[in-house]
Amino acid sequence: MSDKNQTNLPDQKALEKEIGDYLSHKYGDRIKIVSAGMFPQIDGEAEGQQVKNGAAGFNFDLKPEELVAYLDEYVIKQDWAKAVLATKICTHFNRIRFLEEKNRSLSQASGRVKNNILLIGPTGAGKTFMVKLIADLLGVPFVKGDATKFSETGYVGGDVEDLVRDLVRAADDDIRRAQYGIIYVDEIDKIAHHPGRSGLDVSRSGVQRALLKPMEETEVDLKVPHDMVSQLEAMEHFRVTGKRKKKLVNTKNILFIMSGAFDGLEEIVHRRRHKKTMGFAGQLTSVKANCESLAQTRAEDLVEFGFENEFIGRLPITAVLEPLTVGDLSAILKNVNSSLLLAKRQDFMVYGIKLAFEDEALSAIASLAARQKTGARALVSVVENTLLPFEKKLPSTNIKFLTVTARMVADPEKELQHLLKSSKRREFHRRHFEQARKKQTARLAKFFRAKKSAWLRDNEVRPTKARILLLASYAFAENISPNEACEDFASLVGHLSSWQEKIFKQCGSRVRFTTEAVDYCLDQEPKSPEGLDIICAKLLKAMEYGLSLLEHEGHEHEIAITSAALRDPEKFINELVEKQMKL
Ligand code: ADP
Repeated sequence: MSDKNQTNLPDQKALEKEIGDYLSHKYGDRIKIVSAGMFPQIDGEAEGQQVKNGAAGFNFDLKPEELVAYLDEYVIKQDWAKAVLATKICTHFNRIRFLEEKNRSLSQASGRVKNNILLIGPTGAGKTFMVKLIADLLGVPFVKGDATKFSETGYVGGDVEDLVRDLVRAADDDIRRAQYGIIYVDEIDKIAHHPGRSGLDVSRSGVQRALLKPMEETEVDLKVPHDMVSQLEAMEHFRVTGKRKKKLVNTKNILFIMSGAFDGLEEIVHRRRHKKTMGFAGQLTSVKANCESLAQTRAEDLVEFGFENEFIGRLPITAVLEPLTVGDLSAILKNVNSSLLLAKRQDFMVYGIKLAFEDEALSAIASLAARQKTGARALVSVVENTLLPFEKKLPSTNIKFLTVTARMVADPEKELQHLLKSSKRREFHRRHFEQARKKQTARLAKFFRAKKSAWLRDNEVRPTKARILLLASYAFAENISPNEACEDFASLVGHLSSWQEKIFKQCGSRVRFTTEAVDYCLDQEPKSPEGLDIICAKLLKAMEYGLSLLEHEGHEHEIAITSAALRDPEKFINELVEKQMKL
């Protein structure tokens, strides 16, 4: 793309000056150049940047086990898929980084096939969720497409290359970032062809073939003939620069993850296996047997299912996801990282209504959801259906507490009428809210103790017992995720450290907040840097004079600031000065 002659071009400033001189010569000072960005960037500049930065900017030094631990925080069950996705995605990106450091590319690396992955599992089992979580953590752009929407030539629905273009959009038009993205294609089982059927089947094989190149390596033109906007942009570029610029996206580093439910595949696998061992095919009778069968899937089974050899060859890695049971759905709801209940509590919070869920209610929601046979997806609709009458009615009342019980899940309308009519029922909801709050806070505290204490320590926050409880209450009260709560606390503790520096600079004495003093600060409201500023400014003011006296006396020891000092700074400094003067 880079044109050697371009290096001889003057830079934007010099060009502006040249044109400016010409214009002023011709028109005097009646015309001036005001547009700062009217000149295109020389392509080579961006290219050079790309080589220099390589894959930098992405979190590529993660290890597979770290990624599994991260997934464990959000995803219930699916250990196999977690292990496969975490390992292969980590290796994919670490391999790119490694090769880039050696100035080689993935396609040059001794015939290595890209780690494209096939996920087999029922709907709502967490396939998209996991890939999206990983993409978010790594900071790589991610797009999801549906295999049934594509056609070989792009005249029905879209073109498979549109996925690559969408990826560029997801990367905020940054082609460099898009080239390290993840493309996720769902319903891939729907493009399997079934021998003996014609018509649609021809186009199914066509879509498989159309996917072959992007899955390996190809250059996709960002401009498409039917896209007016990109055509207009190209024309404008030509008008300004006199050059035709082709924006190409190379797919060699783009990871493809395909997924589908693959109904009927287990029978194919089962038949193959039992033909060999027993000479007859037994019946698959349970979910467990289905999963065990799927776990033995081989390329030949996928070919029998209706995929072309070449297509399966580009998906060297497979993982199977299990269907979620009622217990799993309940565990998803109870997971402190679940955004579903957070979002719902937020919806009520905007009306000043505090919402909590009893554990029995969560089990009841899980049972109703399981009947829909759409995995965890059904949880949202059950929660919504339960709460909709309350969300509509309560904002017009003065009811401020709502506790979701199992009875309420069974008959929301009846509970609403009861709540509206009876003050006793309102009291019931208030009391039960407190109980549910305690339970959820205990769950959060357990999570912080078990999983987040290492994170806190890494961020210079000592995870004391008191602090963990504070953190749990804070996360619940603010209705934020555990991660956000940890980050807030880390930044508050950092803010307190900056006050130590400030006091040293202003008074010349080293001070240190004791652990319990930090806990005291974190216990105050509001929990914000401004809230801490009020406490610390009061401390500084009270101490300024006393500390300067101590400094005069040659006192050089670090002063430990306790919570008592923060509560009554004047008393603390008076006692300190008195003690020092006596020595
Ligand atoms: P699919 O397997 O069809 O791609 P998704 O991953 O899109 O299903 O799941 C839909 C939603 O259900 C997710 O956004 C997530 O909130 C929830 N979910 C699904 N599976 C799990 C799981 N195993 N653990 C936790 N949440 C899950």
